[in-house]
Amino acid sequence: MSKQEVPYKIYLTEDEMPKAWYNLRADMKNKPAPLMNPGTHKPMTAEELGQVFCAELVQQELDDTTPFIEIPDEIRNFYKMYRPSPLVRAYCLEEKLQTPAKIYYKFEGNNTSGSHKLNSAIAQAYYAKKQGLKGVTTETGAGQWGTALSMACAYFGLDCKVFMVKVSYEQKPFRREVMRTYGASVVPSPSETTEVGKKILAEHPGTTGSLGCAISEAVEVAVKNPGYRYVLGSVLNQVLLHQSVIGLEAKTALDKYGIKPDIVIGCAGGGSNLGGLIAPFMGEKLRGEADYRIIAVEPASCPSFTRGTFAYDFCDTGMICPLAKMYTLGSSFIPSANHAGGLRFHGMSTTLSQLYHDGYMEATSVEQTSVFEAAEQFARIEGILPAPESSHAIRVAIDEALKCKETGEEKTIVFGLTGTGYFDLVAYQKYNDGEMSDYIPSDEEIAASVAKLPKID
Ligand SMILES: *Cc1c(COP(=O)(O)O)cnc(C)c1O
Repeated sequence: MSKQEVPYKIYLTEDEMPKAWYNLRADMKNKPAPLMNPGTHKPMTAEELGQVFCAELVQQELDDTTPFIEIPDEIRNFYKMYRPSPLVRAYCLEEKLQTPAKIYYKFEGNNTSGSHKLNSAIAQAYYAKKQGLKGVTTETGAGQWGTALSMACAYFGLDCKVFMVKVSYEQKPFRREVMRTYGASVVPSPSETTEVGKKILAEHPGTTGSLGCAISEAVEVAVKNPGYRYVLGSVLNQVLLHQSVIGLEAKTALDKYGIKPDIVIGCAGGGSNLGGLIAPFMGEKLRGEADYRIIAVEPASCPSFTRGTFAYDFCDTGMICPLAKMYTLGSSFIPSANHAGGLRFHGMSTTLSQLYHDGYMEATSVEQTSVFEAAEQFARIEGILPAPESSHAIRVAIDEALKCKETGEEKTIVFGLTGTGYFDLVAYQKYNDGEMSDYIPSDEEIAASVAKLPKID
């Protein structure tokens, strides 16, 4: 198709936006392994999960068979305020790279949270409200999820308690103020406000916290306070389900112009944006209708897919959450302090882990200096200041496009541009000052945390 025919931005009308989420698990032969009770080592029942999560979200979490789940009107109407998100043809980047490849990116940064996380936050807040709850608790690392949830809770009039990893709380005061503006209360984690926080502080005085610690604290507060539940912004099946709007919109936009991608690329932290972007493409692949190369990109300093173990593990440091079977570096793994690029969770979505295990997708890891090089190149050509997380996908999209330049192949590449980097300027500063370094954990380091995986028979 000629350059004139495909516009720079492919938008959809409101009517073309998805009316149902697509549940990838329905088309998987090997279903993701169930969440397991850490005490009894039996699959978590709906009743057990219901003590932590909202009832309707528990149903979505456990539903491995319904392919399409209708998006309630209230959520669809909220989506209409900031969606559909554009699918952009990166003509300028193609030109700069002198590649015959055709590059598209789905841009999710056009909302105040600055990322795709709002797609699930608004759904989770809706179901909490519908259940008549007072509020929700959560953790946030870099702050995108906390911000997205604060926005969603403000919209539905729910209380929102956010445990923010201490190092981010201190380094990103502006992110904190955005959340407070939307009415959330933000506590640096680990804190003295929870039993598990006190315990972690006693064992590791002066710790700057981790996502795993913050999850433990948020879950404790949800379980102890009537009318509260815990919500999570990634990893879970329900989150991948909500994020399928990204892939469904992208596929509809591509179909409008008869474009079939060869390669779909996304960054992977807990797997939600990637799971959402690839959902309809992976569905076709699972049903044998089409084939795509699907690539997960992770940081070399937190390489769950590429160097982790496929096993049941804790999702949190306090070991109070259900066990999930996933590619994991061990719940005690904490990425090196010089790692600035996000995507620092030790595990991975159970759905994506199963698909990777079964050979339906590839994974690769990249070092942060090369990620920021790609971010800089992208910003200077395409104009958008990308989030460091998103820039992992940019790195590999550029690398694939450069391979096409060598071989002369006109491949079509689609990648997820999950968000903007306005709150990541400390990381950009390090890069601009030439002070960014790469750290790759040793085999011994990974083996030491993997050795602490729970023993399941
Ligand atoms: C949270 C986040 C990610 C990583 O999370 P996933 O669940 O793996 O998608 C990627 N990009 C941005 C901008 C984020 O905020």
